[in-house]
Amino acid sequence: MQNSEFDVIKKYFTFSQSREDVVIAGGDDCACVTVPENKQLLITTDTLISGVHFPVNTSPEDIAYKSVMVNLSDLAAMGATPTWVTLAISLPDINETWLAAFSNQLSAVLSKYNVSLIGGDTTKGSLSITVQAMGLCDKGKILRRDQANTGDRIFVTGDLGDAVIGLAAVLKNLDDENLLPCIGKLNRPEARVEFARELTEYSKCAIDLSDGLLADLGHILKASHCGARISLSDIPLSSAAQYYFKNYHNNVIDWSMVVTQGDDYELCFTVNNEDESAVKELANKHRLKVSCIGEITDSDKLICIDPNGEPVDFSGTGFKHF
Ligand code: ADP
Ligand code: MG
Repeated sequence: MQNSEFDVIKKYFTFSQSREDVVIAGGDDCACVTVPENKQLLITTDTLISGVHFPVNTSPEDIAYKSVMVNLSDLAAMGATPTWVTLAISLPDINETWLAAFSNQLSAVLSKYNVSLIGGDTTKGSLSITVQAMGLCDKGKILRRDQANTGDRIFVTGDLGDAVIGLAAVLKNLDDENLLPCIGKLNRPEARVEFARELTEYSKCAIDLSDGLLADLGHILKASHCGARISLSDIPLSSAAQYYFKNYHNNVIDWSMVVTQGDDYELCFTVNNEDESAVKELANKHRLKVSCIGEITDSDKLICIDPNGEPVDFSGTGFKHF
């Protein structure tokens, strides 16, 4: 194993470096990078375990893509620009075909965001991938969970619910090409990095949606000591999601599925009234859909209003907060 571990690192986890701030990437005991004086460093890590975070038959390309993207999404949620990652990977065996596919996709997604792989760890064991991502922001210019204020409008990017529908389609073997966009969202979410970086001009508060809207918005409310009122009919659904509910859920939207589950990796953020139009313009510039789904209140409750104006209780559906 000794030799082959280093062969694997050299062959599959050593990429040409284009970032000038990388002093040492791999080959020494630590990686070394230069952090500019006027910036702050943001650091996040996420582990994906086969059979837990992705179905066991997920392709190496999708695993590589998602293991990076979930981390870039955390950086986006704070308005940071991604710069470097490390990769700790545990492999059951050395499967060259699998490794080549994983490595190619890893390299592609990293270069798309101008992010360097600067180090890691390679071990033998059940398939597990831990990426640590680092990013930079201008000093003090970050989006935080504890900065929501009463009266702020609550926005989300993109559409919600696609990833959990994609997961249902995979697990139930639904062979329906109309649901491919949902499976695409499950396997290839897109961190809202570019938008989030500029959003720091207009918002101070954001989170990325990795556990479902209610849980994640709940984190904002708890940290900011406030409540929220959201309107289900304002939650954006893709046409693929609408198709799913029409054809596989008796033509009834399963709001519980949409708001209590799903790793869509969209952003949820708050904006005060005066900045609402600037945020919409910014979204247009990035060709990104943003939707206002409700507002921050001075209560300590998160209230969901259905299309008939009635409050809906999701507490029995696996949703814990509030
Ligand atoms: P050490 O024994 O000093 O911890 P390792 O033998 O774990 O070093 O790794 C040797 C070098 O290869 C280190 O620079 C490490 O960062 C790099 N490395 C190991 N695994 C990976 C990986 N999966 N991706 C990128 N770099 C890696
Ligand atoms: Mg090591």
